[in-house]
Amino acid sequence: MYLQTKISISAFLMALLIAYPASNEASSTNHAQASAKKSESVKTESITSTFDDFPYAFEQVANNTWVMHGPRETPNPQNKGFMNNPGVVITSAGLVVIDPGSSVQVGEHVIAEIKKLSDQAIVAVFNTHIHGDHWLGNQAIKAAYPEAKIYGHPQMLVEIDHGEGKNWVNTMNRLTEGASEGTIVVAPKHTVDNKDMVKIGGTQFKIHHYGIAHTNTDIMIEVVENSVVFLGDNVLTLRLPRASDGTFMGNISSVKKMLESEVKVYVPGHGPTGDKAMVVDYIKYLTTIYEAAQKAFEEDLDSSDVITITRKTTAAYKDWSGYEEQIGPHGAQAYSEVEAAEF
Ligand SMILES: [Zn+2]
Repeated sequence: MYLQTKISISAFLMALLIAYPASNEASSTNHAQASAKKSESVKTESITSTFDDFPYAFEQVANNTWVMHGPRETPNPQNKGFMNNPGVVITSAGLVVIDPGSSVQVGEHVIAEIKKLSDQAIVAVFNTHIHGDHWLGNQAIKAAYPEAKIYGHPQMLVEIDHGEGKNWVNTMNRLTEGASEGTIVVAPKHTVDNKDMVKIGGTQFKIHHYGIAHTNTDIMIEVVENSVVFLGDNVLTLRLPRASDGTFMGNISSVKKMLESEVKVYVPGHGPTGDKAMVVDYIKYLTTIYEAAQKAFEEDLDSSDVITITRKTTAAYKDWSGYEEQIGPHGAQAYSEVEAAEF
């Protein structure tokens, strides 16, 4: 079901080389409790014509929990930026959406597919992190369900305040050659941080955040009763991400802490949903890169030599989307981390 289109991703990488604002101390945490009441569905006009064909549907991954596994390619005019894994959890108080996608157009498709699962209203949305492919679809949700509460990490709200949301809207428009035109920033208004528990109807959403990982804005959302966790881009499968907004060591340690919860089902930010073994496999990739950087550093090799080692030690991942583009930058980044750790 996955599109395997080969596209030039250098343009994408260039476009994503946006300097993020310096990290500030996260603002105070609001232990928000989602309202358990249903909101009225408000019909709004679709902003633009959308996909001629939207070949993605939700698949059940756990009790009351569904995921639409998006394409693993990067944003382009055909996919309108769609590349992530939107999720939906059915609760007794309404529907909860995780990461509604990359644009208003994608968000509208996600809503149309959700309506095939349930006619309940969407009452809450969680955004896993600042990267726009995960949350620019908030706009469509808010237009259709104005009472829905949108949650994100405090640092995500800070970065959007500093213009990062607008940067993502522009980046998405450029990459999709205008196919996401009409998308605007609809930021989370409610903050959640580590150990927060948001109860919606009879379902508890437990938030995990252990410092910088894939970015410094990540939350992992555990749906306690359903034994499933939405990992955001802290874990991917069959795709390698740009890692330059986070750290290898932070990513590895955050995911290891998450594993202590012994959840059964793991939803990555991109790629198929899996079990603990899938998560362990991704940690192994990150660890292998970091260890190659340590070896290069100890042997007085250059940052650029890490790739010579990792081409051999990461051969098991060579068919993952993004491997060729990321293997070099990942090695160089891990080398910088090793260097910094030495001083
Ligand atoms: Zn990301």
